[in-house]
Amino acid sequence: MFAILTVCGDERIIALLLRQDWTMKAAFLTELRGMEIREMPAPQITKPDDVLVRIDAVGVCGSDVHYYTTGQIGSQKIEYPWTVGHECAGTIVEVASEVSGLSVGQRVAVDPLKTCGTCDQCLAGREHTCRNQAFLACPGQLPGALAEFIVMPAACCFPVPDSMNDDEVTIVEPLSIGLYATRLAPENPPKRSAILGAGPIGLSVLLSLRAAGAEEIYVTDLLPERLEVAEAMGATWTGCHPSQDIVAEILEQSEHGMDCVFECAGQQETLDQCAPLLRPGGTLLAIGIPELERVSYCPDLMRRKEIRLQNVRRQNGCVQAAIDLISSGTVDVMPMVTHHFDLDGSRDAFEMVADYRDGVIKAIVNVQG
Ligand SMILES: [Zn+2]
Ligand SMILES: [Zn+2]
Repeated sequence: MFAILTVCGDERIIALLLRQDWTMKAAFLTELRGMEIREMPAPQITKPDDVLVRIDAVGVCGSDVHYYTTGQIGSQKIEYPWTVGHECAGTIVEVASEVSGLSVGQRVAVDPLKTCGTCDQCLAGREHTCRNQAFLACPGQLPGALAEFIVMPAACCFPVPDSMNDDEVTIVEPLSIGLYATRLAPENPPKRSAILGAGPIGLSVLLSLRAAGAEEIYVTDLLPERLEVAEAMGATWTGCHPSQDIVAEILEQSEHGMDCVFECAGQQETLDQCAPLLRPGGTLLAIGIPELERVSYCPDLMRRKEIRLQNVRRQNGCVQAAIDLISSGTVDVMPMVTHHFDLDGSRDAFEMVADYRDGVIKAIVNVQG
């Protein structure tokens, strides 16, 4: 107990240890584009492999903002009020009886996906498509991490070295998605690739490709400030559409076309650019989450070029690799971190990201202030 008090120095942790009733602050979505910070009962350890984590920082993800502005992602609809946030950095404050390898005071990156471990998908090594999964802040699944504390299974908590700051720890989640997408490409790294959309996921794909040794990477976006970051992160060429004809300009430099196109914007317009950009036999990796319920592909070009369509669902088994890439200095994720807010400023953070204001790429909420 002494160690916990020393590490946390927080009255509510002391109350927790004394098992008094206690509450915490959490960000709740209350209506479309409505968010309030409310008090709620703090989570409790209930299972022998649970870990109680104090949340230090949360990155605002495009998917959180989808829920904020539209109340749903595809078939997953919010019933208000509902909590948000899943890209989190935290510090362990309590571990349950059967947890080993994790200790109080340890800083961790949290994998937001809780899986059953027993279904056909889990047994086949496809935990990310677990049939009984629960994801932080997904409607009806697990409460969001934009709160002072969460409880997660020990298997979701990955210790990070002290050399990593909280911003870097929150970026582990999107970086692991970029890393996983590149691992789904038929060759890693592809010789020639394009990334359409230079938000945090597109930039994570770029960093992952660079880390794998890729040299020819074309990156496009609507926002010039994002392309500047992409250039700093090693993009071969960047183009801003619609002011440039990005398909023509990329093919001018690489006439045979791309081995892979990583579609990270989720827009019909960018999806339409993929087939013309790809070489015959190339692969379209669909990572962006479309706000539209349906998108379309032109079967003529897709068929004639025999293009492979690979959907990408979150990540699978890439969290530790993402931590290693950052902690070893192989990649520098900090250029994508543009803004910080405190917990009470969460709504401002979401508004900023929703409207792409002030050159925001990744906004981070420092939950402990
Ligand atoms: Zn995310
Ligand atoms: Zn499962």
